Amino acid sequence: MSKTCLKDMTALVTGGSRGIGRAVARKLADHGVNLMLVGRNLKKLEAVQRDLSTKNVKVFFCVEDLADAQAPARIIRETVERLGGLDILINNAAVGMVAPLTETSVEQWDRIMAVNARAPFLLSKEAIPYLRKSRCSSIINISSVVGYKGYINQGAYTASKHALMGMTKVLAQEVYKDNIRVHVISPGGVDTEMLYDMRPDLKPSEVISPDEIADIVMFLLTHRGNGVIDEINIRRVSNSPWK
Ligand code: NAP
Repeated sequence: MSKTCLKDMTALVTGGSRGIGRAVARKLADHGVNLMLVGRNLKKLEAVQRDLSTKNVKVFFCVEDLADAQAPARIIRETVERLGGLDILINNAAVGMVAPLTETSVEQWDRIMAVNARAPFLLSKEAIPYLRKSRCSSIINISSVVGYKGYINQGAYTASKHALMGMTKVLAQEVYKDNIRVHVISPGGVDTEMLYDMRPDLKPSEVISPDEIADIVMFLLTHRGNGVIDEINIRRVSNSPWK
């Protein structure tokens, strides 16, 4: 299998300010990838930029709310202006929500669909003209086990991840001829703020670390042989196999 060298490539990571996105940003920087990070919290983005300042890569950020339908076009424009192109798009940012569907408002439903499903669609659409110009381009969408299961009290979140899965399956086929590989990673519980907001009963020792998800992202990006991985499912250690 050929191993792709990522040095001097460019990546956009949404939700790069904390959790899985920050872990992915660190590993990409370790491989020499120049970065654009997206989030809403300026201080957290500045902290990640400072943290990566010794890594000998360029790190920029956009403070944007991905619920805004105009944000993806602005983000891709700024990414290409700052980094000179785009090779890798990591659609990672998302919001969770715990409520029965009967108690979910239309505003809550629309917002979660906008951030978790519409934004990855629009970012991909805006990025593809630049990804087509890359010698080796990839989109990785971070879904969830709820992208194919249904968890009680997570109806809106579940619907948004099912939408992301559907979009990923079609996009992967539509841009395959352009040598753009589209992958989806579907984790169970990961040790981040989102998990404990939604599942306060779980402990760090029972769940996946953000670095483990980042390692899988790096595997997908660096192993570009004739065997192509569409999806990787990863469960937390405290869950049964095949559940
Ligand atoms: P997290 O710690 O809550 O981080 C979420 C990230 O997304 C933050 O950087 C946040 O930045 C950004 N974000 C959220 N809403 C945004 C918005 N409207 N506009 C721009 N940025 C926004 O969550 P995480 O666990 O790392 O989640 C990362 C991905 O993994 C998500 O797609 C999630 O669904 C998926 N996932 C997580 C778990 C888990 O157990 N943690 C399991 C399966 C799948 P700001 O707050 O600065 O905006």
